[in-house]
Amino acid sequence: MHRHEAEPVDGAETATPRLLGPAEIRDLAELLDVTPTKKLGQNFVHDANTVRRIVQTAGVQRGETVLEIGPGLGSLTLGLLEAGADVVAVEIDGRLAEQLPHTVAIMQPGTSLTVVHQDALRVTELPAEPVRLVANLPYNVSVPVLLHLLEHFPSLVSGVVMVQAEVGHRLAAEPGSKVYGAPSVKAAWYGRWRTAGQVSRMVFWPVPNVDSVLVGFDRGEAPGTEAERVATFALVDAAFQQRRKMLRQSLSGVLGGSSAAAAEVLTAAGVDPQARGEQLTVDDFLRVARTAG
Ligand code: SAM
Repeated sequence: MHRHEAEPVDGAETATPRLLGPAEIRDLAELLDVTPTKKLGQNFVHDANTVRRIVQTAGVQRGETVLEIGPGLGSLTLGLLEAGADVVAVEIDGRLAEQLPHTVAIMQPGTSLTVVHQDALRVTELPAEPVRLVANLPYNVSVPVLLHLLEHFPSLVSGVVMVQAEVGHRLAAEPGSKVYGAPSVKAAWYGRWRTAGQVSRMVFWPVPNVDSVLVGFDRGEAPGTEAERVATFALVDAAFQQRRKMLRQSLSGVLGGSSAAAAEVLTAAGVDPQARGEQLTVDDFLRVARTAG
């Protein structure tokens, strides 16, 4: 549980709140003249219980460096700081990035926050090495952002992110599942994934028209080299671009130029040429890449 440094003399009711509720979200949005944009996936959480639940699910430890993507008005940032984390927050929207340190200085002075005003899809360097990722991700880019961060920041060993329910189930899906796809295989390259609870759309302003879930991951050892990862991901993309087709057809373009040549590589790798991409694990795809390479 968090510790208060000092209790206010007048009691809790008159103290500055430590997390953002509906009133604070409204005031901040008004102050900044922010109209949330769909393009940037701006849906802000105004429920302290949801924020504390995310922080707790992520297992945030005092003193560790946590990376947050898209801090927005600071709802989750304040929850992470309350738990004692050193937060590095990457925000693409200049107005929000500029305001965040001021909000934190008022609501939780003395805590450790560094804001990086950048597109998370382009960030390759950070001011500190984060061990954990905790974020309410912008929904339209959540998978590319996750894959980009896992590729570029090997210090990230675990994380919990909030994503659109459909995407969350896809990330955590096992082979054979209806929703197993390219994101599932690519995510599995980096470690183990699990869904970690639903989140009501009512905790957001504005209310989105999709449901959300929390997704957790623990990084594992990469099954292959960087060059093998690139080759494996190319096969995965080809296999799921035509997911209904047998692999010998869907991979013919990238494995020898004909379905006969593709079948030969697949058989040599111990994969049934008549199987479909949705049946293969990441290790199966890697074996095919190694055999082809
Ligand atoms: N964390 C806040 C919360 O929980 O209330 C806001 C979450 S909101 C779903 C997504 C945030 O990501 C917005 O603040 C948006 O401006 C930001 N964002 C969108 N695209 C981004 C990108 N490519 N890189 C960094 N931040 C981005």
